Amino acid sequence: MDFPLLEITDDVRAEQWLHKYFHPNGLLCPRCGASVERARRFRQMRRSHVTNYRCHLCDKVYSVYSGTIFANKQLRPTQVILLLRGICKGESTAALARELELAYDTVHHLRQLIHRNALRLQPETPLPDAITETDEMFQNAGEKRRKPS
Ligand SMILES: [Zn+2]
Repeated sequence: MDFPLLEITDDVRAEQWLHKYFHPNGLLCPRCGASVERARRFRQMRRSHVTNYRCHLCDKVYSVYSGTIFANKQLRPTQVILLLRGICKGESTAALARELELAYDTVHHLRQLIHRNALRLQPETPLPDAITETDEMFQNAGEKRRKPS
């Protein structure tokens, strides 16, 4: 059963959440590094509902998606959060595409990019403790087990 997730979520609050998690040190102009306080609200995008900012110092237009895999994708903030949640929970690409009203290929491509980034961000050193917790198995898959005979 597919749920009407987009009808019960709030894009304004979702965009605030994305600001917090995509830019924990604050949203900065991708060209000159000025903070978003040195920019003005330029426009609200009709399709994605995301606010675009124009930097006062260099005129660069940017948004919460700038510098992320969601740049130029026209996804609503609620779609992005629910997509990330669904991928983390292991939901199928087909189900996510239907529930989030996205093309299958879009979800598939974003899933691949997210997995690639997650792999790149994994620590390369094994954990120092002798006991492995369940959640650690996903971080260091295969690094603590014995070599196969
Ligand atoms: Zn700038």
